[in-house]
Amino acid sequence: MTDRQHEKIQNAPIKMRELIAQLDTASRAYYQEDREIMSDLEYDALYDELTRLEAETGIRLANSPTQKVGYEVVSALTKAPHDIPMLSLDKTKDIGALADFLGVHEGLLVWKLDGLALALRYENGRLIRALTRGNGQIGEDVTHNAKVFMNLPLAVPFLGDFSVWGEALITYADFEAINASIAANGEQEYKNPRNLCSGTVRQLNSEIAAGRRVFFYALGAAGAEGDIKKKSARLSWLSAQGFDVVEHEHVTAQTVAQTVEAFKEKIPTLPIATDGLVLTFDDIAHSESLGATSKFPRDSLAFKWADEISETNLLSIEWNPSRTGLINPVAIFEPVEIEGSVVSRASLHNVSILRGLELGAGDRITVYKANMIIPQVAENLTRSNTAEIPAVCPSCGGKTEITVQRAPAKEQKDENKDENNVTFPIVTKGSKPIDCSRIEHILDDNTEVLGGQARNDEEGEVLTCPNPACSAKLIQSLVHFVGRDGLNIEGMSEQTLEKLLTHGLISNYSDLFTLDRHEAAILSIDGFGRRLYEKLLAAVEKAKDIALPNFIYALGIRHVGLAGAKLLCDHYSHDFAQIAAACQGDDYQQSLAEIKGFGDAIAHSLHAYFINPANMEIASATLAHLKIQAAPEKTASGQSLEGMTFVITGDVRIYANRKALQAYIESQGGRVTGSVTAKTSYLINNDATSVSSKNKKAALLGVPVITEEEFVEHNRVAMM
Ligand SMILES: [Zn+2]
Repeated sequence: MTDRQHEKIQNAPIKMRELIAQLDTASRAYYQEDREIMSDLEYDALYDELTRLEAETGIRLANSPTQKVGYEVVSALTKAPHDIPMLSLDKTKDIGALADFLGVHEGLLVWKLDGLALALRYENGRLIRALTRGNGQIGEDVTHNAKVFMNLPLAVPFLGDFSVWGEALITYADFEAINASIAANGEQEYKNPRNLCSGTVRQLNSEIAAGRRVFFYALGAAGAEGDIKKKSARLSWLSAQGFDVVEHEHVTAQTVAQTVEAFKEKIPTLPIATDGLVLTFDDIAHSESLGATSKFPRDSLAFKWADEISETNLLSIEWNPSRTGLINPVAIFEPVEIEGSVVSRASLHNVSILRGLELGAGDRITVYKANMIIPQVAENLTRSNTAEIPAVCPSCGGKTEITVQRAPAKEQKDENKDENNVTFPIVTKGSKPIDCSRIEHILDDNTEVLGGQARNDEEGEVLTCPNPACSAKLIQSLVHFVGRDGLNIEGMSEQTLEKLLTHGLISNYSDLFTLDRHEAAILSIDGFGRRLYEKLLAAVEKAKDIALPNFIYALGIRHVGLAGAKLLCDHYSHDFAQIAAACQGDDYQQSLAEIKGFGDAIAHSLHAYFINPANMEIASATLAHLKIQAAPEKTASGQSLEGMTFVITGDVRIYANRKALQAYIESQGGRVTGSVTAKTSYLINNDATSVSSKNKKAALLGVPVITEEEFVEHNRVAMM
């Protein structure tokens, strides 16, 4: 292979990612914002280039527009054993120990990513399985969700069987946005990106995972190295197969300390969470020769930065009410500089943690940054224990309650983290020692031990405001109501709503449509000019013309996102009265179960909302001001494929591409999914001799395989 060819192959995945991003931006602008940023011709040219690169390289990334994988819902996560156990690593906080560890050998220094550990299996160039770490020996099958990760190759050029280890992560930015929307639906927020990722990858419905933008970073592989002798070369190989790999640097005993520093400086700008570094020998043969202790492989060592701890004085405890009714304690202290930035506040998470620390204004406390990002109170040196838990809500003045909060379902909790005292039988009698060099994975415990106290911020007592009319809840529900996917009232910010609310000019949704009654009062509010007032009135007027799904979404019914609202409206002919009747009916569960993807939780929530007379009164009063748009026309006439599910594999000849065939099927009311299950009606494949995993699965499940021609024939018959 010439250097040029080699370079081309190495760069192909990068080019493919660029093309996918461009196509994605264009179709988002087109479908969601009604804006055309490139012509059809340009779009098709980029699409064709991507298709060509995919064909040339054999790489197909999960988020490629050519790969529209259907969503899948599983009834439960099944367990399966790992081919090679996923071990934890020995760890140190001492930089000096790193040089000692390396000795004369070359090492590789990589991020210790703080996400959810996964093991992936590829066969015949296709992703066939994704398992969570579980207990290291047995994991849970999350293949349906891995298929909708943002950057995972579903197909790779290498056709042999191999395994890949890595970490699934959600970026800080996505974490913030997703948490905000979770809170807007009245559900419990996640504490950090790792918990959100763990909860997401273990969802039963892959549509949820798809919406949460999970990224996968490969750390290592086994089974496909060929003549690869270095772990760094293995990472390059993974890169050429289309994987995003963990950032890594070559080090020696002489350079390791300064490289650790260089990594440290990048932490504040890193989009994803890390909780240290991993040092491993680059040479695979050397690594393999070392074996393992009873617990840890000997070829790798995890490094955690010692937390920079500062002392300061606690000034007060602030109590922040949220829309969910939780009132969260925050420690306010004299500003101190930690890890290069000045901090003056830290969440105390819940009442139990506050009590455990025995805090009071004036106490001497120590603070640090968890993962070098999030400020935390470490210890209280003076323990005055004088902080009082407010008896009334700071927002509405209503009586508060202390309730016990459970961790999000036990098994859902951070399985990525080592259980204490779990050891893995690395060497079993009569068997060859397992190659631990292949396990480049590390985990540590979820519970931070501080000041000799174990602490877990997931569980414990929390302070809540039970008042349904609490102004904190009201303001957040109004923010949700006017938001982009709701009424989309431009310029109606949280501050504006707060002003209108505190001046008593609005108390519910429908009041937003009669602001003109309060013209003089509004104009007298500080910071309100006539221009702003008139702009708001115009925005409200414009917002009145709305599609029913956006209105239903705006009501903020628990578990009902925009996609769910659309399904609901489609099912009931975009008629609010029909929807209300169905949700109120005694047989609501049966009725709503007819809607694809609607489970018990959403049905209960809709029922609870619609049977509440206060909700119905507000909804009707608001509807009276709106001009609900007519139901959208079906794009194509037929519904001949209603209820049928197709999987398309291989090249198509009659349709321009698979996407076009999929679009046709969907226009006829059918569904296209990415993998063959017992529910699949037909597998469409033009290659009758194909031995792809899809064909095997179809044969196994008795799913008929038809060619594109046969599909067209079938379809004519069905349409008559
Ligand atoms: Zn309140």
